[in-house]
Amino acid sequence: MKQTITFGGISAAPGTRAQGWAPVLDTDYKLPVSVINGSKEGKSVLITSAIHGCEYPSIEAVFRLAERLNPEDVSGQLVFINPVNVDGFLQRRPYIIPQDGKNLNRLFPGNPEGSLGDKIAYVLTEEFQRNVDFHIDTHGGDIPERQMAYVYYPGVSENTEALRISEEATDYVLHADFMIKSQATNHAYNYAAICGIPSIELELGDCATWSEAEVALYMENITNVLRYLGVLPGEAVKRTAPIKRITQGEYLDADASGRWYAYVTREDRVRKGQKLGEIRDFFGHVLHEYYAKFDGVVLMVVATLAIKKGDAIIAYGD
Ligand SMILES: [Zn+2]
Repeated sequence: MKQTITFGGISAAPGTRAQGWAPVLDTDYKLPVSVINGSKEGKSVLITSAIHGCEYPSIEAVFRLAERLNPEDVSGQLVFINPVNVDGFLQRRPYIIPQDGKNLNRLFPGNPEGSLGDKIAYVLTEEFQRNVDFHIDTHGGDIPERQMAYVYYPGVSENTEALRISEEATDYVLHADFMIKSQATNHAYNYAAICGIPSIELELGDCATWSEAEVALYMENITNVLRYLGVLPGEAVKRTAPIKRITQGEYLDADASGRWYAYVTREDRVRKGQKLGEIRDFFGHVLHEYYAKFDGVVLMVVATLAIKKGDAIIAYGD
């Protein structure tokens, strides 16, 4: 007999959808949460979007799934938080939580004594991730980012079964150019794996644009993974298109503020020693030059002329 379930204070009886706002500790910040308690037994899956507030194909796809999936079709439970970064979404701020200027996807597992971003990460971990069987976190290229479509899967956890399931799930992401094994530990999805919860992070779309076609591809990626997990009916389709597996990546940040000139664009093959770009000041002096340390392919390149010290400029991998 299925039970009523509660996430973040929002309760859903079997066969129903519930929506509401989940408080974040002692702050006045609230997370918008939708809970679908399926009619049948099955796994619990957390789906998050807008940890970065301007990655629109993912955000719109997750809105639509949370609003439209029929609880009668669901075996298990689906928990949606979207947008996680409400103010970043509304204010169109790339990367950060406006209230504290921090990149939420570098703050996991969070800290109940920290600033707002630390507290959101803590609540997301303790009240949501730990109570589900799988976490899908959704992203894309933020306002300045021109990038490829990819799926990240965690590479760090003592729970090898969580790592195995995460990697297996990537076979069901139908629309992706690359799959990337992550060695990081402080992003939402890879911290989930450290807690023993299998997880993936999806990336599709860029530069804060979105289209119906991208949203459709994104929804197909998510629903096919949900079929693989047995939460949605129908046969999961295994991806047959060849996909490049990235095992080493370099993510470069700007060493100075000024003007950014990229010499390559996404999907370009680069050779070791090839110049990737440079930063100049407002008087034409070159402040920093960037060269590839190994042969690889460009995953993401910042498309804006303006660059601020510490912000991402380019990512490549092999
Ligand atoms: Zn993102």
